[in-house]
Amino acid sequence: MAQLILNHLSKDFGTGRPAVSDVSLTVREGGFLALLGPSGCGKTTVLRMIAGFEQPTDGSIMLGERTLADASGALPPEKRNMAMVFQSYALWPHMTVAENVGYPLKVRGITGAAWQARVKDALSVVQLEEFAYRRPADLSGGQRQRVALARCLVTSPDVVLLDEPLANLDRHLKAAMEETFRAFHARSGATMIYVTHDQGEAMAMATDIAVMSEGRLMQIASPPEIYARPEGRVVGGLVGQGAILDLALPDHGPRLVPWPVLEMAFRQAAGPSHPVLVRPEHVVADPTGILLKVTSCVFEGERFALSLRTAGGQHLKAYSTHALDCGVLRPFVIRQGWLL
Ligand code: ATP
Repeated sequence: MAQLILNHLSKDFGTGRPAVSDVSLTVREGGFLALLGPSGCGKTTVLRMIAGFEQPTDGSIMLGERTLADASGALPPEKRNMAMVFQSYALWPHMTVAENVGYPLKVRGITGAAWQARVKDALSVVQLEEFAYRRPADLSGGQRQRVALARCLVTSPDVVLLDEPLANLDRHLKAAMEETFRAFHARSGATMIYVTHDQGEAMAMATDIAVMSEGRLMQIASPPEIYARPEGRVVGGLVGQGAILDLALPDHGPRLVPWPVLEMAFRQAAGPSHPVLVRPEHVVADPTGILLKVTSCVFEGERFALSLRTAGGQHLKAYSTHALDCGVLRPFVIRQGWLL
């Protein structure tokens, strides 16, 4: 196994705007990279180029020392030792679970006891041994997705590519499947690349998150790093909850803006404005704070989610352990903000 390297990777379908523009990143060996971004940002095109279903217009894809693809040629998908899991599962309806899982082995000429042992092993990773003789139609959505995972594990691929594999599942099943993916990653040791537009999924599973927008890579970092120190409005708006305020801050100040500086910006707003990301957990009720109007208060089970409005008409989010009346002014302190 080796690092997967995308080197100035681009793809232009000739539609007037490239689908992927100059993306360079390295997925470390055994890493779990989430490719995150809004619809149409180019995530799936990057994944398909890694898989070998599309050829780059420019740049290259390397697995260790090996060039998988560049503008002059591309190794076919079956020569890359990669496996892909799709949103639609793509299981054969006429085959049993075991036959589906073992199909890639059969294609490689593996049969008999070796076939049996590897299928059993792959099914045990996703805890589906007792379903081996069922057909996909007799399984739940989550079980079908686990069959698809077992099928990709069975060939011991170097790289596993996942294209929004949880998009069709409900919230509870998603949480359980996130756990399955984490266990699958730990057990298989494969490098995984996971396309999603759901930042919660990316945060919960990945070792690194790459945020894309309009074909370009905006930032790549670990989940805690990208949450605490997002670069720019797109990443700040996409990763985690929060609000982006335009505040008159002194030029060349620190990126992590403390409350006294934020308070000054609110109380004597003048000068050029800067975008500041404020996380809800940093907005706390405090009698020494500035007055904000509560515009909505929604019960979320473990807490209430507040929408707040500043005197200047900007919007913030906060959490509260108890319900607050809408329309009233309340004092809040913003413990810190992050200059985007
Ligand atoms: P989604 O989350 O909606 O799947 P995405 O981020 O995966 O979106 P892509 O599917 O990679 O985005 O598409 C990126 C851009 O490239 C889009 O504008 C899309 O219309 C375009 N595109 C993708 N495939 C082709 C193709 N085969 N021919 C022409 N344009 C394409």
